[in-house]
Amino acid sequence: MELHELTVLRALDALRSREVSSVELTEAYLRRIESLDHTLGAYLTVTAARARSDARRADELRRRGDDAPLLGVPVALKDIFCTNGIETTCGSRILKGFVPPYDATVATRLAEAGAVLLGKTNMDEFAMGSSTENSAFQSTRNPWDLARVPGGSSGGSAAAVAAGLAAASLGTDTGGSIRQPAALCGVVGFKPTYGRVSRYGMIAFASSLDQAGPFTRTVADCALVLGVIAGHDPSDSTALPDPVPDYQASADGELRGLHVGVPDEYFVAGMEPGVERAVRGALDTLTELGADVRPVSMPHTSYALAAYYLIAPAEASANLARYDGVKYGYRAPNANTTLDAYLRTRGEGFGPEVKRRIMLGTYALSSGYYDAYYVKAQKIRTLIKADFDRAFESFDVLVAPTSPTVAFPLGAKTADPLAMYLSDVCTLPVSLAGLPGLNVPCGLADEMPVGLQIIGPALGEETVLRVGAAYERASAWQPRIPEI
Ligand code: GLN
Repeated sequence: MELHELTVLRALDALRSREVSSVELTEAYLRRIESLDHTLGAYLTVTAARARSDARRADELRRRGDDAPLLGVPVALKDIFCTNGIETTCGSRILKGFVPPYDATVATRLAEAGAVLLGKTNMDEFAMGSSTENSAFQSTRNPWDLARVPGGSSGGSAAAVAAGLAAASLGTDTGGSIRQPAALCGVVGFKPTYGRVSRYGMIAFASSLDQAGPFTRTVADCALVLGVIAGHDPSDSTALPDPVPDYQASADGELRGLHVGVPDEYFVAGMEPGVERAVRGALDTLTELGADVRPVSMPHTSYALAAYYLIAPAEASANLARYDGVKYGYRAPNANTTLDAYLRTRGEGFGPEVKRRIMLGTYALSSGYYDAYYVKAQKIRTLIKADFDRAFESFDVLVAPTSPTVAFPLGAKTADPLAMYLSDVCTLPVSLAGLPGLNVPCGLADEMPVGLQIIGPALGEETVLRVGAAYERASAWQPRIPEI
């Protein structure tokens, strides 16, 4: 097995037994990034010098007896997380050249756990998108088929882990941006409960929905990384104070007697037959493992997309008001007045999808339309949450497809925003309800990965991970890195 194929846990074994040093492991990843990333486009910034110094330090600490949870493991961060002294663009021209003076809490926690930072990954501009094609800088390709998208908006982070260009990475998920790219790239991706992970230093898209989480190749790796980044943070008032359980320990365990609900409404019209086949196959596996698998109805599911595309743009229109060329990144040259400077900076700095969202959101919040759109969407959000509350009275977890399709060709949906939005039809309701959702690979269709989504009640991460790990052990899927 080559170094870039090691899971996080196996890499840690090799580091602990001194079979390999962090410097060797890091150099292996840097070489692979050097040889493959001009084809894949997963990284916006490779922090090679920082990675080498992190690795040397990790080896030194280990020699002195330190055994921090990720000591010496090379990871990547979505370019939405502020990194002290390292350019952070959020995939946007408006933040080109922005070098934050501080670290996001998740970046601090990874560093304190001994992780080595390889770089910052590509993403849809301000995390708005499902294919990473809305990045202002480059498209990322799917490692399974270079003619297809990796999903989005955290497509760079998903592709990096899938291709062996990082042992693990972090992304963010507002409506599906961890789970959907994980599904399309054949890796594990977890959006925790809203508030489980601090959003401090994470550039805001829709603040009532945004949540950070890990990409890894196995559920056990995911449990480890989540344990490192989760937990209370005085710098984020929405970070939950609840203690962080030992996710690795809780990921072990049986499914016998567990109640698993399968929401009928998630098997949407237009779902690819190969995707449905793979997901139904996974449900059979859960039954074989002793779970009691039954259908459940979630009647408000079909309204989630419309509600999300009012609430998320409304919050985005407010959050993105700060990009006016005064404090951050890009400022249009040659403006004559202050207003002219704002207008030109925003006109030149934002891409078309971001402008579409700002217009949608501003409209939904405007006086006269506020009640008809924004307030109505919030009421629907409450009904969707009530569907989940009801389901979790009878079921421990819900299991559904993550995406209705496998990865689609580059350019296939760029001209049709609605077709792109439909890519997240199975993940949006979970986001609106603030619940944890895990993607676990469950086979191939059309030779491309298919993802299974495991949904838990609020703070039900342990059960979700337990189901994911048990499924992973029993399924035929072996974490593998496609030939590139
Ligand atoms: N694709 C969805 C959107 O464009 C979700 C994005 C996300 O989760 N950041 O809004």
